[in-house]
Amino acid sequence: MRLDKFVCKSTELSRCEAARAISRGELSVNGAVVTHAATQVHENNTVMFRGQRLTARPFRYILLHKPAATLCSNVDEAYPSIFNHIDVQNPGELHIAGRLDADSTGLVLVTDDGRWSFEIIRPDKACSKRYRVGLSYPLADDVAQKFADGLQLQGEQKLTRPATLEVVSPKEVLLTITEGRFHQVKRMFAAVGNRVLSLHRERIGSVQLDVDVGQWRYLTRDEVLSFT
Ligand code: URA
Repeated sequence: MRLDKFVCKSTELSRCEAARAISRGELSVNGAVVTHAATQVHENNTVMFRGQRLTARPFRYILLHKPAATLCSNVDEAYPSIFNHIDVQNPGELHIAGRLDADSTGLVLVTDDGRWSFEIIRPDKACSKRYRVGLSYPLADDVAQKFADGLQLQGEQKLTRPATLEVVSPKEVLLTITEGRFHQVKRMFAAVGNRVLSLHRERIGSVQLDVDVGQWRYLTRDEVLSFT
């Protein structure tokens, strides 16, 4: 990890404050003063700052039940950010492992561990995501087969990966996909002449949404390890 990030994770300093302290020569790594913020440090290194040894705080892994009309972004734009619902220290260090649209609801995973989130979103890992989808029109008979075969989305060459559709009622389905293209679920239903009215993510991998809307919890160790 970069030294400035390590300092942020182990003190109350912001990234800018950490960079300034480093350039002033206030940090040493294994006994040598280091003035470059990009210097790589490992948790076994002895990093000293103002007479104290720094130890990085452990990474955080959070499950949130995203409400509708919230944004999966650190920046407040037209809607409030989902980060307003996560009352932890240094929320600016967190990022989202797979966004939902502003009008979508359900399971969002949030972390400050970039390697871990990459394991969830990297295309070749094909991590499954299950959505409960409300539709404008009753589902046509051939849609489950089309989704299983792969669809061509508008403006794309490559077919979608095989997806599984379970019918709950004529206008409600459970859809499991293993990729995360832009607006993928809405575009899949558009490709078969339907329209998504509501979209709720229930599961990512083996992690199931189990908190009320707007609530969050830390993942268990087993849940964290299930993605690695
Ligand atoms: N697919 C979409 O179209 N929207 C989402 O929010 C998630 C998946």
